[in-house]
Amino acid sequence: MKRERIYLSPPHMSGEEFKNVKETFDSNWIAPVGPQIDGFEKDLQDYLNINNCVVLTSGTAAIHLALIILGVERGDEVICSSFTFAGTCNPIVYQGATPVFIDSEKDTWNMDPDLLEASIQDRIKKGKRPKAIIYVHLYGMPAQVDRIVEIAARYTIPLIEDAAEALGSTYKGKKLGAFGAFGILSFNGNKIITSSGGGALLTHDKKWADKARFLATQARAPFPHYEHNEIGYNYRLSNVSAAIGRGQLSVIDKRVEQRRMIFKKYAEELKDIAAISFQPENKEGISNRWLTTIVIDPMLCKGITNESIRIALEQENIESRPLWKPMHKQPVFASVPCYGGAVSEALFNSGLCLPSGSSLSNSDQELIISLIHKIVTGIT
Ligand SMILES: *Cc1c(COP(=O)(O)O)cnc(C)c1O
Repeated sequence: MKRERIYLSPPHMSGEEFKNVKETFDSNWIAPVGPQIDGFEKDLQDYLNINNCVVLTSGTAAIHLALIILGVERGDEVICSSFTFAGTCNPIVYQGATPVFIDSEKDTWNMDPDLLEASIQDRIKKGKRPKAIIYVHLYGMPAQVDRIVEIAARYTIPLIEDAAEALGSTYKGKKLGAFGAFGILSFNGNKIITSSGGGALLTHDKKWADKARFLATQARAPFPHYEHNEIGYNYRLSNVSAAIGRGQLSVIDKRVEQRRMIFKKYAEELKDIAAISFQPENKEGISNRWLTTIVIDPMLCKGITNESIRIALEQENIESRPLWKPMHKQPVFASVPCYGGAVSEALFNSGLCLPSGSSLSNSDQELIISLIHKIVTGIT
């Protein structure tokens, strides 16, 4: 019998989702309004300990609204982590603004605080005060939050925290997503929980949350005929998607534990291979280990590369994927300024994301581990 494909990070339902979805059908709230939306927002607020949450069609939409509310406009500059997914920085361009990319530091693979400060000083010297900073917790790993928050505050530049990959991760005991003017989450199909597609905007400021809801529903001023004084967007999450998201959020702690167990098993069972290392844990926090990522040292690995491991796994119908290609190396951002770059480039050139879904079975994970041993040691 042919084994089913092993995916990188497939959706993993708890059973609660379908009950909630049935409620939406029974009540006929099949719309981007309804009780599941209100409930999902409340559940997220309680879980993250933050006063305001607005659920949206995607994490990208959440970043877009944050930039609009912070007044980012044509000709502005926004500082952004380079080592990330394009959803982090595309909304900067939607606003007609320009990203300024910052490389990673080796400790957490996230935004280098020293480069952040140097870049702010340099942009100010060039006559361009950055309008906002977007920093990312890559693969769920907390960035150097205290230092980034302190630098942003000292230069009075608002922070957007891209926690799309980091739901359930903590920094100094507090959940990520609340360390900025805005935090954003994603519930895309491959994230630690999914609403089949969706995202959330988090903020401590109720006025901003109200503004986000207004902009996300086509900026309709409250008249029977709808009056428009501003350009709006159709970014509100569907009540049906919110029903799925609520069922998923009810098991988030379990999902974090499962992903961390999967990481731990990879780390333990591959530790005898000197050429393989892992994303280091930030000592001030706990990563949800959304994806387990390995880095292969080519000097120690006699011709075996991240790409040869990826291809060998693919031949066994197992999905793995290179790390994010840094944004400053993307053709579409070729003319964008970048501070540093070598750290994320080296990680991209030697790294690989391994199957890390919370539903990954023990036997499938053991198969992956034994295949990697086989590839690296050349023993069959
Ligand atoms: C997934 C992701 C996003 C975008 O979220 P969507 O819901 O897919 O729009 C943004 N930033 C990072 C780091 C992501 O991984």
